[in-house]
Amino acid sequence: MSAPARPPEGGASSPGEDVAQRQEGGPVSAPARPPEGGASSPGEDVAQRQEATPVRPRGSVVVLGAGLVGLACAHALQRDGFTVTVVDRGGVGEGASFGNAAHIAIASIIPQSTPGIIGQTIRLLKDPAGPLIVRPGYAARHLPWFARFVAQGTAERARAGTHAMAAMMAQAWDAWQPVLEDIGGGELVRQSGALHVFGSQAALRAAQAAYDLRRSLGVTCTPVDLEQARTMEPALTEQVGAVVWIPGMGYVTDTLALARRLAERIESRGGRILRAEATGVDARGVRTKEGRLDADRVVLAAGAWSHRLARGLGVDIPLVSERGYHVMLAPGSSPLRMPVLMVERKVALTPMAAGIRMASVAEFAAADARADHARAERVFRGLERFVQGLDAEPVSRWVGPRPSVPDSRPILGQAPGAPHVLLAYGHGHLGVTLAALTGRVIADVASGRDPGIDMRAVAPLRSARLR
Ligand SMILES: Cc1cc2nc3c(=O)[nH]c(=O)nc-3n(C[C@H](O)[C@H](O)[C@H](O)COP(=O)(O)OP(=O)(O)OC[C@H]3O[C@@H](n4cnc5c(N)ncnc54)[C@H](O)[C@@H]3O)c2cc1C
Repeated sequence: MSAPARPPEGGASSPGEDVAQRQEGGPVSAPARPPEGGASSPGEDVAQRQEATPVRPRGSVVVLGAGLVGLACAHALQRDGFTVTVVDRGGVGEGASFGNAAHIAIASIIPQSTPGIIGQTIRLLKDPAGPLIVRPGYAARHLPWFARFVAQGTAERARAGTHAMAAMMAQAWDAWQPVLEDIGGGELVRQSGALHVFGSQAALRAAQAAYDLRRSLGVTCTPVDLEQARTMEPALTEQVGAVVWIPGMGYVTDTLALARRLAERIESRGGRILRAEATGVDARGVRTKEGRLDADRVVLAAGAWSHRLARGLGVDIPLVSERGYHVMLAPGSSPLRMPVLMVERKVALTPMAAGIRMASVAEFAAADARADHARAERVFRGLERFVQGLDAEPVSRWVGPRPSVPDSRPILGQAPGAPHVLLAYGHGHLGVTLAALTGRVIADVASGRDPGIDMRAVAPLRSARLR
């Protein structure tokens, strides 16, 4: 595993600073490794270097799924010399990649299943306004997933999972930087830092061990006094009980624009983005309702819909649809200026280009099941006590599925028994944060390079426990 090029905190960035500004004025970190064949001189611009490096044709790849993960894979593979076709039955970036909270959540290194998970789950399920919703029919069909999820919650497995995730998170920004530079997307992603907000000091004390663990793994998390917190984020009210500042976090200002910018760049280099519904994947390509797409390799990046397609290859890795909801408040509804996580309520707030986004809820239900916005919005109620303006009437509502794996780590690498098919799904709560790193890893695997992360931690069949 390679060491991160720089610590995840990225120095003391001021709120509102975007990645492009950072690159002009601040310390620009080089990518962890030079691209293959690229003898780079120190300080040489990453984009220039990659343009100038002659890439030999490597063959063709069909990427199934035009979410942020699939697009980042296609972008990285294309820069490595592969001819890429991205296929999606919907529009670019309109799956889970559209409606998430858009946080670059480098502090989210602790898996969902930890010691005490059963008690925690029962408490959450008893709360009619709580963020956890389980549709009984769906849960009954996916009992093996839930059993494996609970089995992941031992101290030893949670610790191993946290270490593995921390190592990946430490590379998340370094992976995004050259991508944003190449697509001219610096203004779409801001390394603003973020605040974790609690209703009381007692609630922060209860979470202390988690912050100690994060700190021990290199994530800067600094408790700030309430006056200082309100100076940093004037939208916070007097009711806030405790605040932790995480300078290494950031957010995407417009997730759809980011996906489209990636797609445009891919097309400008001769890649194709096709609209078609895939019915199956095999070692030679993708079957769609409109006909076959043959290729030397396939990348399966269909988010929460990947499981059935993978099963056709004989790969049966438990994956469920863990749906989240958001509401958008009109711009100016709240003076919020940086991403905030309301920790106890598990609601993420984001000051996006189109307005204020409130996102939350883990609803275990079929990806395409009917949305229950009324239930979801109970979770958002009352938060104006802590952040001004959140009682504004929503201007739009959304639901979409997180692709969730029992141990909260993505599935990356060659499909067992079908090495020409590369799997890139299962990013759960963290697909925006890890999309660029995933693209880099998949291109590395396809090109036979060392991906620079511990592939055992994300291997498709990493342990019998996941099978
Ligand atoms: C409410 C919410 C909040 C979140 N907040 C964050 C956050 O703050 N930070 C973070 O990092 N992550 C967050 N996430 C998680 C993140 O959104 C996902 O992990 C990520 O979007 C997954 O990206 P993807 O490309 O794998 O999947 P998707 O974006 O869902 O893309 C999959 C694509 O595959 C296509 N597809 C599926 N089946 C077929 C088929 N048969 N044929 C053709 N095309 C097909 C779909 O149309 C879709 O476009 C959040 C998620 C939710 C729901």
